[in-house]
Amino acid sequence: MKWISDLIDLIFPRTCLVCGELLSPQEKDICLDCLSKLPRIEKIHLEEIEKSFWGKISIERATSFIYYHKSSPYNNIIHNLKYKNRPEAGERLAFLAATEIAESGFFDGIDAIVPLPLSKKKERKRGYNQCDHIAEGLSRATGIPVIKGAVARTTANETQTHKNRDERWKNVEGIFALTDAQKLEGKHILLIDDILTTGATLASCAKTIQDGCKCSISIFTLAYTYNGI
Ligand SMILES: [Zn+2]
Repeated sequence: MKWISDLIDLIFPRTCLVCGELLSPQEKDICLDCLSKLPRIEKIHLEEIEKSFWGKISIERATSFIYYHKSSPYNNIIHNLKYKNRPEAGERLAFLAATEIAESGFFDGIDAIVPLPLSKKKERKRGYNQCDHIAEGLSRATGIPVIKGAVARTTANETQTHKNRDERWKNVEGIFALTDAQKLEGKHILLIDDILTTGATLASCAKTIQDGCKCSISIFTLAYTYNGI
């Protein structure tokens, strides 16, 4: 009922995750002004994203939606999705991303969406896997089903944040295990993560899947770390 949500807004004012201004009852997570200025990734960098996997794993295609760069207020959406118990913000951003990206034919031929798994320990601590919510948003927009439980993260490796490029690739080797190859066999799957930095974690997961079953893999992340703008 509308009056109830209006009343809740009055008691607990909702603010834009980007600019901090009060949201109108119609706005969700982000105000219309910030939504109209989303830092969408330019074509030249989308090409770079795809190329970053070449020679490491065999993928069909890869894409991402917004820039994640130093001091961008839009990073706050990702922080809320990952650390502040606001996974629905990521779900809605993923839905928007999918409706826009679908026009390019990116999702054509993809059979299933597979969220990158978290370790059991980390998921318990956080209460959810943020990639599950991104996957749900993509699925809601495209109608492509989500498959969970086919691949698991066996090691809660140390954080990648302070590691250089080579260390990041070494740090994630063998941290995934294929737990139900049957679920993925013969499919074209879209592997999902929140932020793409070096792509090492995604590549490690893709390799584990491809070592254990015959399937094609494409990649989608909600954001892309890029500090050049
Ligand atoms: Zn705003």
